[in-house]
Amino acid sequence: MRVLVTGGAGFVGSHVVDRLLADGHTVDVVDNLATGRRDRVPAAARLHVCDLRDARLDDVVAGVRPAVVVHVAAQAAVSRSVTDPRFDASVNVLGTIGLLEACRRAGVRRAVYTSTGGAGYGDTDVLPTPEDHPLRPSSPYGVSKITAERYLECWAGLTGGRALTLRLANVYGPRQDPAGEAGVIAIFTSRLLSGAPCIVNGDGEQTRDYVYVGDVADAVARAVSSPDVVGVANIGTGAETTVNELYRRLAQLTEVRRSAEHGPAKPGEQRRSLLDAARAKSLLGWSATTPLDQGLTQTVAWFRKELKR
Ligand code: NAD
Repeated sequence: MRVLVTGGAGFVGSHVVDRLLADGHTVDVVDNLATGRRDRVPAAARLHVCDLRDARLDDVVAGVRPAVVVHVAAQAAVSRSVTDPRFDASVNVLGTIGLLEACRRAGVRRAVYTSTGGAGYGDTDVLPTPEDHPLRPSSPYGVSKITAERYLECWAGLTGGRALTLRLANVYGPRQDPAGEAGVIAIFTSRLLSGAPCIVNGDGEQTRDYVYVGDVADAVARAVSSPDVVGVANIGTGAETTVNELYRRLAQLTEVRRSAEHGPAKPGEQRRSLLDAARAKSLLGWSATTPLDQGLTQTVAWFRKELKR
């Protein structure tokens, strides 16, 4: 199948591209390289350097004529969305609308979108959280990602297209950028390997559902090969891990004896997050298969190699 992946030069997107190529698909990538990197796009995929908000996108999508669009590109930093909500909405909402318009014009019938679980549901006592739980995003990022889901559904209704939203848990793995506010696993791993201290926000007992990026790519690949599956599906492991536990395991893997330092709690930080992925299991036959220890080992190995380069 010919698949167009937006954001294919980024962390999650580049793993999706690798997996789709391995499955024998023809892959084109649209990415403006804002946080993505050209060298992450394999030579077997064609990279179109283009912003989702650029009018040129129509020509790119029409030229590729994909059977499926996988929409991964986003402004993915919660902190940036708080300091600059206009920019966040411009990429995540207007960019998505630009893509859907280009799809409508080019007659694309299938779209798979990577949204967010934790930032969409917000703080809740319903754990693991199912898809029909009310959405209470507490950041502009959560609002823009959920809004884009609505546009996707609307596009499907108006054009006869089929849209599937995958609400991802906290993704980790090789190629995650440890700079800025990236995932805690990338930050801790790169700091531990370079001998820098790690700061845990607050008491470190806050939990997240950490899903390995290869498992996320597997979910997307199944979504691409299941064109009739529509709606929303959570992509998570169903297991909660505290930040303290992550530090303990990563310190062991990197052979660091020092304890983490504790800083002030982040105001408004969610206490717990855990997704119910039963729907992904029944609709896509998907469940996370990479145990945390295995995923962390692979992540540490990748960061070790990167630091030596
Ligand atoms: P990332 O920043 O590595 O990837 C985003 C990609 O989109 C980059 O390659 C970037 O250059 C590209 N991009 C950004 N703005 C663009 C624009 N205007 N036009 C074209 N391309 C643009 O982030 P990521 O962590 O790989 O996240 C990928 C997706 O997964 C996002 O949609 C994010 O909301 C979602 N998600 C990620 C996580 C996570 O834990 N990483 C969790 C839930 C959901």
